[in-house]
Amino acid sequence: MQIIRNRTLYDVVIIGSGAGGGMAAKVLTEAGANVLMLEAGPMWDPVKDSNMMRWNYDSPRRGGSIPARQGGEYDAALGGWTLDGEPYTNAPGSEFGWFRSRMLGGRTNHWGRISLRFGPDDFRRKSVDGLGDDWPITYDDIKPYYDEVDKLVGVFGANLGPRFPNEPDGIWLPPPQPRCYEHLIRQASEKLDIPCVTARLSILTRPHNGRAACHYCGQCNRGCMTHSNFSSPSVLLPPAMATGRLQIVAGAMAREVTVDANGLADGVAYIDKATGQDNHVRGRIVVLAASACESARILLNSRSARFPQGLGNSTGNVGRYLTDSTGLGVTGFIPSMMDMPPHNEDGVGGMHLYMPWWLDNKKLDFPRGYHIEISGGRRMPGGGFGGGIQNHTGTDASGAALDFGGYGAKLKNDYRRLYGATVNFAGRGEMIPNRDTYLDLDPRTVDKWGIPVLRFHFAWSDNERKQGKHMQETFRAIIQQMGGTPMSSMPGPEDDYGLAAGGRIIHELGVTRMGSAPSTSVLNKYCQAHDAKNVFVTDGGPFVSQADKNCTWTILALSMRTSTYIAEQRKAGAL
Ligand SMILES: Cc1cc2nc3c(=O)[nH]c(=O)nc-3n(C[C@H](O)[C@H](O)[C@H](O)COP(=O)(O)OP(=O)(O)OC[C@H]3O[C@@H](n4cnc5c(N)ncnc54)[C@H](O)[C@@H]3O)c2cc1C
Ligand code: SF4
Repeated sequence: MQIIRNRTLYDVVIIGSGAGGGMAAKVLTEAGANVLMLEAGPMWDPVKDSNMMRWNYDSPRRGGSIPARQGGEYDAALGGWTLDGEPYTNAPGSEFGWFRSRMLGGRTNHWGRISLRFGPDDFRRKSVDGLGDDWPITYDDIKPYYDEVDKLVGVFGANLGPRFPNEPDGIWLPPPQPRCYEHLIRQASEKLDIPCVTARLSILTRPHNGRAACHYCGQCNRGCMTHSNFSSPSVLLPPAMATGRLQIVAGAMAREVTVDANGLADGVAYIDKATGQDNHVRGRIVVLAASACESARILLNSRSARFPQGLGNSTGNVGRYLTDSTGLGVTGFIPSMMDMPPHNEDGVGGMHLYMPWWLDNKKLDFPRGYHIEISGGRRMPGGGFGGGIQNHTGTDASGAALDFGGYGAKLKNDYRRLYGATVNFAGRGEMIPNRDTYLDLDPRTVDKWGIPVLRFHFAWSDNERKQGKHMQETFRAIIQQMGGTPMSSMPGPEDDYGLAAGGRIIHELGVTRMGSAPSTSVLNKYCQAHDAKNVFVTDGGPFVSQADKNCTWTILALSMRTSTYIAEQRKAGAL
């Protein structure tokens, strides 16, 4: 096989340009390192490439999904649940979905921007309830980095006070006002003693660090032309580029990390996707940030005489302890929100209020918890809007039965009456990590470049199923308290109470986890491989547990901490 070898020796080679890779590039270039970044997708510039200003009716598909953009034709994500020529497989009985964006900035271009810190208990779960493992670091170790991420990126929110000791304070921009339907949800949930509080999203409600404030178009998933929300290409890569020390190679699919005779990484082998040609770049340090599962795949494929099971995998832990958030949603039709006079519900491209975990597990039949994300109201209509008009059932204020649908003028008028009269509740909860939920390389399947692909082994346990049942009952109770009707029937245990399959919440974590003991972990507390001191992971792989929070704010803080450590070690001559 002919390999094109780049003779330049870079201080650091980073694989991936999303949350973890972008932060590493910023910190390391600003600390003086010459960095080469390999990115499997094309370049992506939010100013030129975002569809933020398009109307759904500009397209005959009304913004519906297309194979190259499975989140919608105007969505920022290039890719989705399937990628042409890049399969993954599931072992018998396993059902795991893997969402991949292939583009500069990865999934940070269209993520939900829900930016929750983990709390003190989230780093010591085993000490709290005896399940899973504690992290090798505490909240106090990571707090300074959360603070720096808040200041750098900008996040709106509010402190929640002593009722929520596991929801840490942050450094907040002022939050936007709740929308009409959010007020109504809050009124109902508080009657059930379910707190509904200010959300925490990395969207600018004030100009911040040279970036403009949000103008409330509500289209964050399309990428933001004014850089008013967080994405790696808006916030992390520009300052790294400005140092003159970052070189980005787009369309570069990393195949493996190569090692020298001493077992240290000496570079990365990658495919140039435009030519199909094999290439090799040299680096003193390699940072994997290709997203948790892809970084594990690269390590498992990095086989050598020294590491026959893959780099970092001497104790067989690469791929183990795979987790995703538990999740499900229930939509409710709220007749009192019908026939609303036209009013402005503009806001950020996400919720202004949410519900953090509020209960005591000692009084419940399952461990850990979940938070509730709310949506609804008068969003821009698109393909599939309304979700089946005939499902809107209930009674109006006079008690008369409601009946929608049919044809012609009545149908059109029904849509007008119903516009904005639904609310949705989505639970995002914590799974207990376990060694038997994992990924490995499929011995029979390769991608279009001949690289072995991942095979997932995933199952929910009764802990998660009971959590799902509790979510269902809670969401239905709030909808009923609002005088509404759930638009789906209550699923039973045979359907896991409606829990989404593993991976579908897109918070996959933990496959290169950190720990003090090499026998049960891949990385040390600085996300540095036990096997090779110049190999680091800065995506979601190092997580020891999931928390009932979305993961990206912690990926950013951990990546900043790891990259700061690398910079210090370089300065001290230890790397
Ligand atoms: C629809 C959606 C909504 C979400 N909402 C939220 C939310 O509200 N809050 C939250 O916390 N999280 C959310 N997430 C999750 C969030 O996007 C991820 O946690 C985060 O982007 C992970 O960052 P990362 O750097 O690990 O990976 P990514 O952002 O996926 O970046 C990985 C990069 O590596 C590149 N790459 C992959 N393989 C290779 C290879 N072999 N060689 C070279 N490059 C490679 C990819 O092209 C990509 O650019 C959401 C995700 C989705 C899809
Ligand atoms: S809602 Fe705000 S942050 Fe989101 S895309 Fe529109 S202007 Fe940008």
